[in-house]
Amino acid sequence: MAERSFAKEVEALKLGDGEIFRGEGILAVTKALLQSGVAYVGGYQGAPVSHLIDVLVDAEDIMGELGVHLETCTNEASAAAMLGASIHYPLRGAVTWKSIVGTNVAADALSNLASPGVMGGAMIIIGEDYGEGASIIQERSYAYALKCSMWLLDPRPDLPTIVRMVEKGFELSEASHAPVMLELRIRACHVTGAFTAKNNRASAQSGLTPAETPANFDYGRLSHPPSTFLHEKLKVEERLPAAQAFAREHKLNEFFEGDLKDIGIIVLGGLYNTVSRALARLGLADAFGNARVPIYCLNLAYPLIPDEVKSFCLGKKHVLIVEEGSPEFVEQAISTELRRADIQTRIHGKGALPKAGEYTGEVMLRGIANFIRDASPAGIDAPAIVAKADTLLGHKPAAAKSLADLPPRPPNFCTGCPERPVFAALKLTQREIGRTHISTDIGCHSFATFAPFSMGNSILGYGMSLAAAAAVTPNVKSRPISVMGDGGFWHNGLITGVASNLFNKNDGVLIVMANGYTSATGQQYMPSSATSRQGTAPGMEIESTLRSFGVKWLRKVRTYHVAEMVKTLKEAMKTPIEGLKVIIAEGECQLARQRRVRAEDAVKLKAGERVVRTKFGVDDEICTGDHSCIRLSGCPSLTVKPSPDPLRTDPVAAVIESCVGCGLCGEVAHAAVLCPSFYRAELIQNANAWDRFLHRLRQTVIGWLAPKQVAA
Ligand code: SF4
Ligand code: SF4
Repeated sequence: MAERSFAKEVEALKLGDGEIFRGEGILAVTKALLQSGVAYVGGYQGAPVSHLIDVLVDAEDIMGELGVHLETCTNEASAAAMLGASIHYPLRGAVTWKSIVGTNVAADALSNLASPGVMGGAMIIIGEDYGEGASIIQERSYAYALKCSMWLLDPRPDLPTIVRMVEKGFELSEASHAPVMLELRIRACHVTGAFTAKNNRASAQSGLTPAETPANFDYGRLSHPPSTFLHEKLKVEERLPAAQAFAREHKLNEFFEGDLKDIGIIVLGGLYNTVSRALARLGLADAFGNARVPIYCLNLAYPLIPDEVKSFCLGKKHVLIVEEGSPEFVEQAISTELRRADIQTRIHGKGALPKAGEYTGEVMLRGIANFIRDASPAGIDAPAIVAKADTLLGHKPAAAKSLADLPPRPPNFCTGCPERPVFAALKLTQREIGRTHISTDIGCHSFATFAPFSMGNSILGYGMSLAAAAAVTPNVKSRPISVMGDGGFWHNGLITGVASNLFNKNDGVLIVMANGYTSATGQQYMPSSATSRQGTAPGMEIESTLRSFGVKWLRKVRTYHVAEMVKTLKEAMKTPIEGLKVIIAEGECQLARQRRVRAEDAVKLKAGERVVRTKFGVDDEICTGDHSCIRLSGCPSLTVKPSPDPLRTDPVAAVIESCVGCGLCGEVAHAAVLCPSFYRAELIQNANAWDRFLHRLRQTVIGWLAPKQVAA
């Protein structure tokens, strides 16, 4: 299961020689993998490359025909370790994850892979989640490439270039015996375009044609001393020059000519389109990207090719380095190369452009205008270019002012989310027992850090909440509460959090949100899902796993039962029993449930079968208008409307059409002893005779009562 099905699009993966492939960047990467003859693929989902895993799952049949093994890994470390198959065998393999966080998780395996190096091409496709739309800490993956001696491809967001870099990336890996990272920013993942396809290739050794014998023992291929000392030398003395020679020979980087010969721009491939657009807006390029400023585009971000850098800079007075984020790795490396060669080109980079943050279109426009101002190249009117940028950006303050009154819209749980009631219960519990330290985690439940809950003291990583509370427990009087999703539990939390807690005989309360999927990344299956991509239940349970680890105090509560959740939370916080107390909060991800239920209902309706939908509502004659229900729920379907009573000016609560009938409103009103204004209604389609009889009966009784009410 996944947020979006690519079942239709994956048909394009069957295209052969000369046919035109049209589609999204992610799909193009998958096609390039098949054209490259991969033997195995795997990964762990996360934006902006979640779709890559989803595409791979949807393309399993096609991959099966080619003998490609697909592994949906439980975390990024297992995905990275999978590349170990390429150390000894001539197998091409690719894995994917979200970076920087996924690369952090995979770091150990990556170091141990990069040290012995590889025989078959090994590629890591990383979704570089850097910039304004990111959901994680702002760091770059570049540092990993640098420290491990892995090569980093950062292709220009253009389908033929992306596909070529995937194909050449495997060759580069094999030519230099080093793993290769291919970085895709969010725009590159979703860029659309076309390229001329090639036939898919089956690997010579694969699941269809396995090797007769395993690899020989070779101590030199183990990341163990003394081999590691040799590996370090090999990285610098052989693999690096081999990678640079390959990149030079195969022209991985691109040179774009321009008539303004005394200046130039060196840009990391992923940022090329933004540079091109900024130049066009400043009148320095046409709409097709033909620029007046010469550009050296680094599709291979690491390593640099010193000869190419020097030949580009030689004769230029000023060169701008466009490299997002900090520190300025590329700028420093280029400065060193030029200094060593005594080339006097002045380097601009951080200064003209900001030291941190995404280089959006607006930032790039200003940065390039600053560069033109400082470089003042011959052949153009630099002050006019700067004035143009000022005009283009001048409307911003006025636009910002006109938007000032718009209320902020923080992200929120989906309507009917099963995790919202847990935080409503937590809020009610805290009213009684006081504020508690809440160690939160990565996942949908982190929406509780926003209003109306505003809960959560720290986020240390995926599956890390319980571990992050370890030193809080002895230092704060009340027990900390750690919140973890079932995705986080299997990703890391079981060992890092639970095992560590039990091993150290710590106290504390852990809530595991068991919604059945890794929901935040698009409802992919995980070990305790009710089913799997193979169609059968994986057979791993959170409860029995925890009990087998030695958890004694364990309760399972349905999330929507707010009163029971409050009672259980209070018990967990107050019990004199020491040790870990786990509450498994059960409730299927509502987004996944709605997708499933809507499809089932559509089939039933078509067949003329009875379908019942539950809705909740507010009786606006009873609603007092104090909005406690909204403050305890935060459901987007629970809003306000003008009071029908002219004597009451406060708006009343109202449930809108998007309500999915989860029942939280009523539960909260009951658990918090709020006004009795919520009602539950059933919408019946294809009603049967009994439904019709009941309806008539109710209408009649209401009819009898109504006149009496009026009379009264
Ligand atoms: S995706 Fe599922 S778990 Fe996540 S907020 Fe939506 S309903 Fe809740
Ligand atoms: S029942 Fe209430 S909380 Fe649940 S979806 Fe409807 S409005 Fe939202």
